[in-house]
Amino acid sequence: MNHKKKTRIFVIDTSAILSGKPINLDNSIIITTPSVSNELKPGGKDYQTLQFLMEKGLYINSPSKDSVDKIKTISNKTGDLDRLSDADIDILALALDINADDKKDAVVLTDDYSIQNVANVVNIKFESISQRGITKSFIWSRRCPGCGRNFKENLKICPICGSATKNIVLGKKNIGKGGRDDR
Ligand SMILES: [Zn+2]
Repeated sequence: MNHKKKTRIFVIDTSAILSGKPINLDNSIIITTPSVSNELKPGGKDYQTLQFLMEKGLYINSPSKDSVDKIKTISNKTGDLDRLSDADIDILALALDINADDKKDAVVLTDDYSIQNVANVVNIKFESISQRGITKSFIWSRRCPGCGRNFKENLKICPICGSATKNIVLGKKNIGKGGRDDR
């Protein structure tokens, strides 16, 4: 390395996963905390989004206790503490830990205004998901593990062989540059 370019590390919160918008992992490092993954109910669609991201290389790390305490103290001063979940606090604390390494630059991906507000106060960079110009969303389908067929319809039981089907990500689809907003 002959220049001082820092490695950008995206820290994603629950809202980033719930948005269902694919996060491009190909050229970036993406990380979240165990508390975020614990907020998602196993078996649900959002948990499957998390599993999909983990298969693509999402890291899960816990923040240091020092950073958690620092974030709590600061968010108490800014009046955001009541609006932050433990998972939200962990996300901010993990970003602080990453920024302590001067070769790394944390960027929190979140649509949560309290997280953005505290991030601003402690000099953590953030980007909102809805303003990131993401123009693709996941295509969900149901797959039968018994006979291997895919169904577009939301069939819980395979009509061919009678096995229970599973939600799978088939791919991504364009949602248009205008940004159709489903919220
Ligand atoms: Zn089947």
